[in-house]
Amino acid sequence: MAKIQMKTPIVEMDGDEMTRILWQMIKDTLILPYVELKTEYYDLGLLNRNATKDQVTVDAAEATKRLGVAVKCATITPNAQRMEEYPELTEMWKSPNATIRSILDGTVFRTPILVDSVKPVVRNWEAPITVARHAYGDVYKAVELRTDEPGTAKLVFTGESGAVQELTVQKMSGAGVLQGMHNRKSSIESFAHACFRFAIDTKQDLWFSAKDTISKVYDGTFKEIFDQVFTEYRAEFERLGITYFYTLIDDAVARVMRSRGGFIWACKNYDGDVMSDMISTAFGSLAMMTSVLVSPYGNYEYEAAHGTVTRHYYRYLKGEETSTNPVATIFAWTGALRKRGELDGTAELCAFADRLEKACLDTIEAGEVTGDLASLSERESKSLTSAAFLKAVATRL
Ligand code: NAP
Ligand code: MG
Repeated sequence: MAKIQMKTPIVEMDGDEMTRILWQMIKDTLILPYVELKTEYYDLGLLNRNATKDQVTVDAAEATKRLGVAVKCATITPNAQRMEEYPELTEMWKSPNATIRSILDGTVFRTPILVDSVKPVVRNWEAPITVARHAYGDVYKAVELRTDEPGTAKLVFTGESGAVQELTVQKMSGAGVLQGMHNRKSSIESFAHACFRFAIDTKQDLWFSAKDTISKVYDGTFKEIFDQVFTEYRAEFERLGITYFYTLIDDAVARVMRSRGGFIWACKNYDGDVMSDMISTAFGSLAMMTSVLVSPYGNYEYEAAHGTVTRHYYRYLKGEETSTNPVATIFAWTGALRKRGELDGTAELCAFADRLEKACLDTIEAGEVTGDLASLSERESKSLTSAAFLKAVATRL
């Protein structure tokens, strides 16, 4: 059989631990036999990030801007414990995802992969709900302080022009806490563009929620910016028969619970942090959650939402065969290959991505699954090692 040809390469970002092992297995078993794979390879494994002083992460993000599509393996974000585990580390390197996100100015969309045998906790959810989280500012870049005495708290802005705006936050009659936070117009605009673009790409309705009844200026600005940016996309939404609406966050929560799914829910930073964990847990398994970073300029980076599955990796190092679920990582590959195919006009590549996803879902529906799904499944199922699962998928493919 002739292999499927690619026109333009995708950016391949390798990673760490168990997912790095799965990465190679997925390529060897499910991709390289069928596709004349063209990638620009960047090793984002922790030791290479350290050796390159994290330049490799920056290079990979820049390559994504140039080539438009990337696929990324999960990576370790070092913390104090990792500094002990890897004594060669010269710095506690930043999260690669944060570095890439800030270079691409992107928004992360997380979507669950649904299978019949694992029912969402919310019975009426029939299609995936995608959460888009604005990943800049608000409480995540706030300053805060505590006071033990009475006094007056003020919010003061001094413009470069010299103009001063000043508000009294509160006349404190005793001890208390204070917080000051901000967001940027440009960041909210990028967020809005990424959301509208992704809704058009996936032909789904877009909801945006905030609390502008209480926060009239701050959340009100988010709402206004979304309304303004939407004017650029309205005609395309109408053509596709999809809708955009804004609603209060409390109304959105109620409607999400009663919905059938199948839409994108854009959330401010804190709401998105909390709601994405709720949505992913209620849909079933972290191992079945995909994630794509979309830039306002139309660059895409696909990955699994889960981490490097450290506990499984330690068992692997002891020589055990693990039953780690590779599905979200496979869907990262299919997402990237399909997008490459769409951008290059190579229908064969898109069709291959569809077939590979279907082979994964059919394997799971047939009861051949990894351990995490075996324990969640409502059907009789057989728990396979990662290697045996990949082989079962390859057989169907
Ligand atoms: P994790 O790797 O997602 O794993 C947490 C637990 O979830 C696992 O121990 C496992 O449970 C289960 N799990 C996750 N993915 C699975 C899969 N594919 N198949 C089967 N079970 C799966 O999260 P973590 O342990 O908090 O983080 C580990 C490392 O990943 C950290 O160094 C962190 O920095 C990094 N991380 C990277 C990313 C990213 O690159 N996008 C995201 C998150 C975390 P059991 O052990 O009970 O089987
Ligand atoms: Mg969270």
